[in-house]
Amino acid sequence: KRKMVSALLCATMVAGMVVVPAATAQAADKKLIGVTMPTKDLQRWNQDGENMKKELEAAGYEVDLQYASNDVSTQVSQLENQVANGCDLLVVASIDGSSLGEPLKQAKEKGIPVISYDRLLMNSDAVTYYATFDNYKVGQKQGEYLVDALDLDNQDGPFNIELFTGDPGDNNCNFFFGGAMDVLQKYIDDGKLVVKSGQTEFEQVATANWDSAKAQDRMDTIIAGNYSDGTNLDAVLCSNDSTALGVENALAASYTGKYPIITGQDCDTPNVKNLVAGKQAMSVFKDTRALASAVVKMVDSVMKGEEPEVNDTKSYDNGTGVIPTYLCDPVVVTTDNYKEILIDSGYYTEDQIK
Ligand code: BGC
Repeated sequence: KRKMVSALLCATMVAGMVVVPAATAQAADKKLIGVTMPTKDLQRWNQDGENMKKELEAAGYEVDLQYASNDVSTQVSQLENQVANGCDLLVVASIDGSSLGEPLKQAKEKGIPVISYDRLLMNSDAVTYYATFDNYKVGQKQGEYLVDALDLDNQDGPFNIELFTGDPGDNNCNFFFGGAMDVLQKYIDDGKLVVKSGQTEFEQVATANWDSAKAQDRMDTIIAGNYSDGTNLDAVLCSNDSTALGVENALAASYTGKYPIITGQDCDTPNVKNLVAGKQAMSVFKDTRALASAVVKMVDSVMKGEEPEVNDTKSYDNGTGVIPTYLCDPVVVTTDNYKEILIDSGYYTEDQIK
């Protein structure tokens, strides 16, 4: 009997020696890339994550893709695990750009390069590169859209406007809101645009976690206090689609005046539907396929010890210095071009936005 067991063991060992080492050797050849995304709640991050995984795998990498349910401590432990589990490079889209110092420090100690994805990781010298869309341009395009749509250079107004931006822990907001206000401020100063609620400071117009329900609550209160007597609201600057959706829901529930011009960003499907239905005037499209491709190229260069392509070396200082950045181009989408940009390009099927 013992002979049989040892014969079996032997067979397993032989099989093991033939099969297992080969498989292990193959896996060991592949570099492991850790990708962390903030949340699955918002459509874009699902697309970002899927595109990154697909493209990295096609380029010959193994991928550990994590979503953190918008919970900072979850993201911290996901990153710590990726560092401990031997990831060769980390791609991080943070929830709060300033809260990942500890795992980033661990990555740096192990010599693991870190690429900041879409949102800049702040106050950490572990950040090697940054890839995003031109966030300032996103805000600028939203502001310019409102100026054109209200014809502010030819009309005296005054037009009533309200302002909504995103999470204060997201460095992008400074660029989105800053870019838009750099365009709009002079019209507010000369009285052509009036913010009836009086809420113009970043802290007043921020939306924690970019949460639609929070934007909706704030809009409800603003309507009740300023626009329930028949006063028209002419425009709402919304930094992105999730805040725009909250605003649109509040308007549907309790606003009866002339429908305002509303901006957005991301071309999320509920917002594209609203665009087609005339409930949102524009959205800024950021093709997550383009960002994923740019980041995969970056990852590949870093892994091969080469210098990745960057096109901005001055705008994004994370508190430890300027992070070399690759910026993708955002595009304004309206009812005039959504078919071409979103459907003909294969980003969505017609069914998805019906
Ligand atoms: C992204 C936007 C997104 C927002 C909310 C920002 O950092 O750049 O595309 O709408 O986060 O998730």
